[in-house]
Amino acid sequence: MINITSFEMLDNAIRLAGGKPVVLEALWDGDTAGWYLYLNLHVKVKKLFSTKKEVKYIGTIRLGQDIRLFNGTVPPWPEAELAKEWGKIASEKYGLIFYFPSDKEPDSDCPGWDSRHLAIQCADCAKMIIPTDSPYLPKDICYSCHLKREFRNNIKNAEPYDDGIILYMVKDKAYHHLGYSSFLDEFAIAPFIADTVQARRKGKQVDIVTLNELDISIIKGKIEQVLDEKVAVYKSAEFPPNFPENFKSRIKRYTVQYKGNTYELIEQFDKEHAKIGGLVQALKMVDKAISGNYCFKIYFRNGFTYRDDAVLRFVNFVSNGSTSLAAIEQQYSGTLTKTEVQDTVKKMEKAGCLKIEGEIVQATDLTGKLL
Ligand SMILES: [Zn+2]
Repeated sequence: MINITSFEMLDNAIRLAGGKPVVLEALWDGDTAGWYLYLNLHVKVKKLFSTKKEVKYIGTIRLGQDIRLFNGTVPPWPEAELAKEWGKIASEKYGLIFYFPSDKEPDSDCPGWDSRHLAIQCADCAKMIIPTDSPYLPKDICYSCHLKREFRNNIKNAEPYDDGIILYMVKDKAYHHLGYSSFLDEFAIAPFIADTVQARRKGKQVDIVTLNELDISIIKGKIEQVLDEKVAVYKSAEFPPNFPENFKSRIKRYTVQYKGNTYELIEQFDKEHAKIGGLVQALKMVDKAISGNYCFKIYFRNGFTYRDDAVLRFVNFVSNGSTSLAAIEQQYSGTLTKTEVQDTVKKMEKAGCLKIEGEIVQATDLTGKLL
């Protein structure tokens, strides 16, 4: 893959492609590392008595995941912005057509230039798409509009949404965010705390379970007990595990320390190694809490809906923590009635997540911890 990082590079690739450039197309594709744009150039090549059309791949625009995290000023898909900018210059310079069927968000269902006669327009956003053949998806809209419709329906129907458990390490007023997961069992320390946590849940709309110093020292003992058993098995096993030779050399390894010993582990393909790695991480977290006199706090939701979650996010993130009732009603007009919005706001006030003063609706400390 040739990664194009400037218009000069693109320009060079167009010139090197040979023939007369007619269409420059930008299409999305994705792999495990994320979405990227690939650029094809359609050229006319003159032969002795005829003209031949050819399509040539000339490069890829890929910026990677990291850039999205920098700050809010970067558009969510800067690849698209770059492609649009360069495509415009290229079309002026060469008189070619710049074809970019999904210039707002990634979509791999858009037709290439040569198959655009097979496309329909998305009924919601008017983007050209090749209708999906999946029996589970609507055929008249694109996938991203399908997700938007589903999201709106979840809000409209107040579908239950209690996912999202947040773990903090806390001392006085200092909260260190340790992790977010959909369910408790996704945390490495989950097997050692599940019973205690379950017993302490009160079934309030927002449940906060605290694990104090004594709890944490008990957790530490339990983790060490399991780790002792696991490293005993590790020591008696062959290392690295019995994989084919050419595969063995490519497996990534890393080391962990436990009770003064070093253990070499492989990153993938071995469940026991993964467990040892996870437990050593969990132990580190617990040791840090013990040495710094921290406790753990775990936040749960009970009886939340997509509607509650959406309103909280709108107040907390979109409106920076403070807005008016009218603005929330406006945000969800067409999806929720005024009464539904008011009821949601009241419900969240009762849960301790919103504060209402006249027309003003504010997020609370709790909202920030819960989202
Ligand atoms: Zn659409």
